[in-house]
Amino acid sequence: MARAQDPQLARDAATQVVRTLRDAGHEAYFAGGCVRDELLGLHPTDYDVATDATPARVTALFHGTIQVGASFGVVLVPVNLRAARCAIEVATFRSDGTYADARRPDHVTFADKHADAQRRDFTINALFLDPLETAPSPQHTASPLGGRVLDLVGGLADLMANILRAVGDPVQRLAEDHLRALRAVRFAARLGFTIEPATSAALTRDAGSLRGVSRERVGAELRRMLMHRSRAVAADLLQQHALDAPALDEAPTRAALPRLLALPEPGLTGLPDGRGQFPGECPAPEELYPGVALAAWAADRNHAAGFEPNPESTTRRLRRALCLSNDEAATLQRVLSAFRDLTPEWLDRPSHEQKRSIARAGFSEALWLRRATDPILADRVLNQVGLRRASASGIAPEPLVNGGDLLRLGAQSGPMFKIVLDAVFDRQLAEDFSDVPDPKATALTLARTLLANGGYGLT
Ligand code: ATP
Ligand code: MG
Repeated sequence: MARAQDPQLARDAATQVVRTLRDAGHEAYFAGGCVRDELLGLHPTDYDVATDATPARVTALFHGTIQVGASFGVVLVPVNLRAARCAIEVATFRSDGTYADARRPDHVTFADKHADAQRRDFTINALFLDPLETAPSPQHTASPLGGRVLDLVGGLADLMANILRAVGDPVQRLAEDHLRALRAVRFAARLGFTIEPATSAALTRDAGSLRGVSRERVGAELRRMLMHRSRAVAADLLQQHALDAPALDEAPTRAALPRLLALPEPGLTGLPDGRGQFPGECPAPEELYPGVALAAWAADRNHAAGFEPNPESTTRRLRRALCLSNDEAATLQRVLSAFRDLTPEWLDRPSHEQKRSIARAGFSEALWLRRATDPILADRVLNQVGLRRASASGIAPEPLVNGGDLLRLGAQSGPMFKIVLDAVFDRQLAEDFSDVPDPKATALTLARTLLANGGYGLT
């Protein structure tokens, strides 16, 4: 694998590795995802090289190599090119042995390119490409980026027909490694491919076995699906194949997915009124987007089951099922809480409560979810947001009275502190101090009264 921001650099580095291996008398090709993506007109930044050279030979031919998966015959080869550095993963052709744990083969045997193509999961992932072969030939397909494709499993025809098909017997291939079911869905969704009928049937048949796969691996696959704009297609495919139940650890549901579909892309979750963000609004940062997308999916699934998601129990379950981080789980729970809050009754709440709700993390995302199925309510909420924004103090002003002020008034820190600060801030949000000559002094007077009366004193 070559990880470089610049796709051309990654490709050139991988080509250089192929050339060195070839000059030393070995077979060597680009393999797997990079070939698939090149043929689809994409510009991959990850290149894998497959070769008949053993790891010992690869290590002898290049400087500074690192054994990353010695037992699998994978060696990382560093390449310096145009003042940049990247590393290419070079894997020796192999056939995988039996899979006792349905995850990692018990042993691998170094083999030829035919066996290596056979051990790969899907035909579109089992193509090789010779980047040094530039002469055009009518029998061979060329990559748009140059080089000749070597297809040992019928992957090209599937790629051209937009079909995702297991290499070999789909039932057996899924039984070897149940995670392949999730990979199938991820590739089909991302590429917009149809899962070939026998592979599709095997996915459903094998679905329950996903429970045996580690939650970290399931979570990692789900995250990748949810980060991609095809997330609703992926969720739908999971549901169609009954993979939703073992993946999410809940009952299977064939839910319509309007909320997941309507979700904006990571990093774009401002309010759905095109006016961008405003002070006090905190859209979830991009890395926490899986939490947002899971909230949308949970809302869709619960709606199909006839109830609104309970933020706490849903978060608890999904956190365990997908090994969510603390921050991802917090995001999920906040969006679901804000979503539960955004009912027609929200419109009748006092302005200070609305402002607090708008400023809370999860609000803008929840409004996207509501808008997906109730645009009229969303418009009315947005209207109110506009009014609150335009108010004198805005949505989330700097508090006129803070903890330091209370200490200076002689207050002891303790529970009363927060009660008084909240009460004064609510009055500020309600614009009670906006028309007075000295808002700060008036707010302090109120704070003093509240402290004197043990928190009671609001008139
Ligand atoms: P991407 O990295 O874009 O998700 P990829 O096809 O490169 O897609 P990787 O996980 O990087 O996927 O794996 C590289 C290649 O290794 C795959 O194209 C496939 O040929 C093979 N492969 C990976 N995981 C499996 C698996 N679980 N079973 C069989 N083959 C696999
Ligand atoms: Mg890859």
